[in-house]
Amino acid sequence: MALPLDSLRTTFRGEVGDAPDVTDRVSRDASFLVGRAEAAARPEDVDDLVALVLWAREHRVPLTARGGGTSLDGESVPVAGGVVVEFSHWRDIDALDSVGGTVRVGPGVVNYDLHRHLAPLRRFFPPNPGSWRSSTIGGNVATNASGPRSFRYGSTRRWVHSAEVVLGTGERVTLGPSTAKRSLGPEMLDLVVGSEGTLGFVTAVTLRLAHVPTRRAGVVVPLPEGRALGPLVTTIANRPSLRPSAIEFVDGRVADALRARPSARLPGSGPLLLLELESDGEETESRSLEELDLTMRGLGLWEPASLLPDADRLWSLRGEAGSALESSFGPHVREDVAVPLDAVDRLYAELRKIAVDGHRELYVYGHLGQGHLHPNVMVDPASPEGAKVRRAIWSAAHALGGTVSGEHGVGSVKREFLSRELGDAGVRILHGWKSLCDPDGILNPGKLLPDDGPAGPALGPSRPAAGAAQTPSG
Ligand SMILES: Cc1cc2nc3c(=O)[nH]c(=O)nc-3n(C[C@H](O)[C@H](O)[C@H](O)COP(=O)(O)OP(=O)(O)OC[C@H]3O[C@@H](n4cnc5c(N)ncnc54)[C@H](O)[C@@H]3O)c2cc1C
Repeated sequence: MALPLDSLRTTFRGEVGDAPDVTDRVSRDASFLVGRAEAAARPEDVDDLVALVLWAREHRVPLTARGGGTSLDGESVPVAGGVVVEFSHWRDIDALDSVGGTVRVGPGVVNYDLHRHLAPLRRFFPPNPGSWRSSTIGGNVATNASGPRSFRYGSTRRWVHSAEVVLGTGERVTLGPSTAKRSLGPEMLDLVVGSEGTLGFVTAVTLRLAHVPTRRAGVVVPLPEGRALGPLVTTIANRPSLRPSAIEFVDGRVADALRARPSARLPGSGPLLLLELESDGEETESRSLEELDLTMRGLGLWEPASLLPDADRLWSLRGEAGSALESSFGPHVREDVAVPLDAVDRLYAELRKIAVDGHRELYVYGHLGQGHLHPNVMVDPASPEGAKVRRAIWSAAHALGGTVSGEHGVGSVKREFLSRELGDAGVRILHGWKSLCDPDGILNPGKLLPDDGPAGPALGPSRPAAGAAQTPSG
């Protein structure tokens, strides 16, 4: 049944498009999944967004929020149809609150644009995902994104001070304090951080900011093939005078793919450790580099490290690892597992075994400092064999006390594993939040929760009126 877009246009002022080129564009993200958007809507302001939500409740139409569309597990794919709500035009950046060290931004601000905006003010928003040139702050918040600098600074969750949100009921709420601190029961910010657009739409975020260090050095250390990684990281991380803000790894073949990128200038011929060291000036930086050199020699690594003056460029280049593999091999299984650091070499061994058993090629890179690897296995991700490989990787990480998602999220792809990782009680709490914030189940159905849709445009019988919260059913 066609969507009643004429009735939407009576209350909604923003652009609504249902031409095939529009619906095709918003039916995909960076994953292998393809949805079936029936329309895309670009709300003009918060009132407009509320009108859209109330219309969707009345007509039982799924709404899927979309920022940069760079998700890797189908988080922004409209698997249940309906309307995709675009936020890429909500790009306001307010003046910096230099006393509180915060800035309020629109959800459509691109991570890297914010980075450049803040640079002259000597502040930065630390999470720098590989997709930072195209992912948005709204998407980063909704997936609790992280990046190389999360080794020192943590993921997005730590840097969100408060968020303005329109819930699935159409109600507006501000989650998080307006003051520097407060003690007012559990802080409900996590209703949105990491919720993948299933509980509400983020309409503005107040972010905490860090001070840009005086100097940042990007350092590339060539590694011998097969070198144990856990002890390396532990040694570097336990030298606080080095002040590492990022400890990344790329295996030999991923490094070769990056070496082939224009103006990459990466040394060596095998795997690489990519580091970022922060310091207070030239002298401290030289001391850190000398200490790093000694540390590496102590670990039996004799090949000299290379210094890259522009660490941002190093992270942009490292962020191209996934796309470099995608352009060489086409769609393949791209995973996102993390384990406690002392289990990272065992995880790597399991990944090799999974690939060898299936006669598949394995490429690995990741945020090594946090025990977080992105195994890429060359098998069609949409095939039964691809699903088998994914499950084997998740089970290996789980068995080592790890997680199936270090940063990308759950989306449609990983929700089958959620109960195993969170347990029944954890999933029950998520269901409770869902039924309170989105009683009609119109927000991004088919994501995150193991047994939530996809339901299709008809989402079942009407539930209680807007604003009426339901008791968590358990
Ligand atoms: C090359 C590449 C490298 C990547 N590297 C990293 C990395 O290093 N670290 C990392 O964490 N991730 C990484 N990712 C994954 C992805 O970029 C992140 O998850 C990112 O945060 C998604 O942002 P986005 O703006 O593209 O969001 P989208 O893909 O548009 O949406 C992501 C989720 O957020 C929801 N959403 C979007 N906007 C809103 C809003 N305003 N309100 C409520 N919900 C909303 C969507 O519904 C969806 O569930 C990478 C992806 C690619 C393609």
